[in-house]
Amino acid sequence: MTKPIIRIKGLKKSYGDLEVLRSVDLEIMPGEVIVVIGPSGSGKSTLLRTVNHLEVPTGGTIFLKDTLINDTSLKGRAFERHLCHIRTNLGMVFQHFHLFPHLSILQNIIEGPTQVLKRDKQQSIEQAVELLNSVGLADKKDVYPDLLSGGQKQRVAIVRALAMNPDVMLFDEPTSALDPELVGEVLSVMESLATKGMTMMVVTHEMDFARKVADRVIFMDGGYIIEQGTPEQIFNNPQHERTQKFLASIHL
Ligand code: ADP
Ligand code: MG
Repeated sequence: MTKPIIRIKGLKKSYGDLEVLRSVDLEIMPGEVIVVIGPSGSGKSTLLRTVNHLEVPTGGTIFLKDTLINDTSLKGRAFERHLCHIRTNLGMVFQHFHLFPHLSILQNIIEGPTQVLKRDKQQSIEQAVELLNSVGLADKKDVYPDLLSGGQKQRVAIVRALAMNPDVMLFDEPTSALDPELVGEVLSVMESLATKGMTMMVVTHEMDFARKVADRVIFMDGGYIIEQGTPEQIFNNPQHERTQKFLASIHL
């Protein structure tokens, strides 16, 4: 039987008195595309950030295959190795691209593979060019991020994460900072990744994308997963009043 690639159990996160994640349980299967929706402040980003260990949970466990992500027993070099393993296997794409402005597009992409993973430079360049080609940006490899549109920058950010050969890709509102006419080009790259079998966890307000690409839609509110199901179930027949209210509020 196939095992989950990510297992989240009893996950909690507080900032002082503010409980942001109250108790989240979630298992993600290899190749599954999960879209996370919910009102602002419901804990969606925090969920993604704890999975990538950018935030340390207050309670609960997150496993990537057999690795406990929030392993607090690791110190020093062992912890650094652990973090490197997590960041390599979980690619993350943010709302604001976070490209290095002083590096060319190619340098941005090979930085992780060559510096962190110590891979061969020539091979990393070849892989980067291939990936850039797959998102229609092969001709941009030698320019600097400033010269690209937001949609192009975000496609580069996706390529940069993919260059580490991650098992899972996490997207936190990847199209929210883009001009409307640039949203489609990023979503279509994400859709093609999903089609190729990438395991993905996507926070987005793009409901058409969710309907078309998600295997499962998760609705969060107040630090809980309130409801989850297929796009059909969640969008056409939401069971929980809070889900119904949220969906009504965003004018589907
Ligand atoms: P969402 O992504 O669903 O909009 P977030 O996970 O970003 O929600 O935030 C959930 C809540 O946690 C919000 O009330 C936010 O203000 C709070 N929060 C997020 N990060 C921090 C932080 N570093 N320190 C204090 N509060 C935070
Ligand atoms: Mg957020």
